[in-house]
Amino acid sequence: MIPSVLPTYARAKLNFSRGEGSWLMTEDGGRYLDLGAGIAVNALGHANPDLIGALTAQAHKLWHVSNLYEIPGQEKLAAKLVDASFADTVFFTNSGTEAAELAIKMARKYHYDKGAPERVEIITFEGCFHGRSTGAIAASGAEKMVKGFGPLMPGFVHLPFGDHDALRAAVNANTAAIMVEPIQGEGGIRPLPDQCLKGLRDLCDEHGILLILDEVQCGIGRTGKLFAHEWAGITPDILMSAKGIGGGFPLGAVLATEEAASGMTVGTHGSTYGGNPLGMAVGSKLIDIVGSDRFLAEVNRKAGALRQKLEGLVAAHPDVFETVRGVGLMIGLKCRPEVTAANFVKAGYEAGVITVPAADNVVRLLPALNISDGDIDEGLARLEMAATAVKE
Ligand code: PLP
Repeated sequence: MIPSVLPTYARAKLNFSRGEGSWLMTEDGGRYLDLGAGIAVNALGHANPDLIGALTAQAHKLWHVSNLYEIPGQEKLAAKLVDASFADTVFFTNSGTEAAELAIKMARKYHYDKGAPERVEIITFEGCFHGRSTGAIAASGAEKMVKGFGPLMPGFVHLPFGDHDALRAAVNANTAAIMVEPIQGEGGIRPLPDQCLKGLRDLCDEHGILLILDEVQCGIGRTGKLFAHEWAGITPDILMSAKGIGGGFPLGAVLATEEAASGMTVGTHGSTYGGNPLGMAVGSKLIDIVGSDRFLAEVNRKAGALRQKLEGLVAAHPDVFETVRGVGLMIGLKCRPEVTAANFVKAGYEAGVITVPAADNVVRLLPALNISDGDIDEGLARLEMAATAVKE
């Protein structure tokens, strides 16, 4: 019999019915400390009262009008994002994948309008993940993602992660943009060193190429800055945001400089729900909270404390883990080959803690940015139990 929910996901047998802060509850009374936050989505945890307040206030006023009219909250959220970033302009989407599609279009249109229609090639890096539309899987290029899906969007060039020599050799007169995650998420929490990001910026400037940063997973306070690239002291031309920006409400955005967005005239971007009033209300409240210096200082403090404890966990279980890596609250525990990340995640379920597997045999920790100190300690105790159990 065909199941009612088609099996495109390998799901754990966990049936959560309620969430509060950093905790997830099942119908049968189970309590799980959530160190995955919906894969970096629930930036302020579950059932955050401020976000609920913003959402319900808007829900009582207006859910939807078409983008043919001014939409309440769009100007407000866009202005907040512009104020807090390199960007001059913001386009709203519903997801990271849509943001990727828009970023690709924007970069190509920019060169087209500049009289260089041949500049369509987008350089991406091995291990990257930009979504699952046909354009986004073409951007990734990974065999396991593209196989069987027929002719995909052409014009992508895939290079080894962080290989600057390969990059220099690949750039040519047809290159439109370089698209990169400052910290690969699905690829296994692989940060691009600051020097590499600076090198990318310089190379783009040298050749008139646009730099697109995919901050869908690493942005919105996760690294202790509003956007991860701020650590490297560079700015992109185009930035993709999603996940954390809606705190659990479906919302995405593309931020861009005026120059990079210059080709985006009427009719070049559209979306029935992109920028809807409910998403704007939630996103606006979230940016007020996460964008404050005090909040980001707390993220950094907690990240430092968690990192130190995780170094201790790794040192205590050298037969389970190789290293801890990542930035801020975007953390990867690289497992030894004999302990698969998937098995560790399962052992975590048994110990009442939610973690997320990634490529490169890495277990991801992406807790709510406002996780309490007590919950960090509880999380460590449960990770410790999982590390002990996974060896047995
Ligand atoms: N880009 C990155 C870096 C991601 O991690 C993801 C999702 O995991 C996406 C893009 C796609 O986002 P969405 O699932 O919202 O379409």
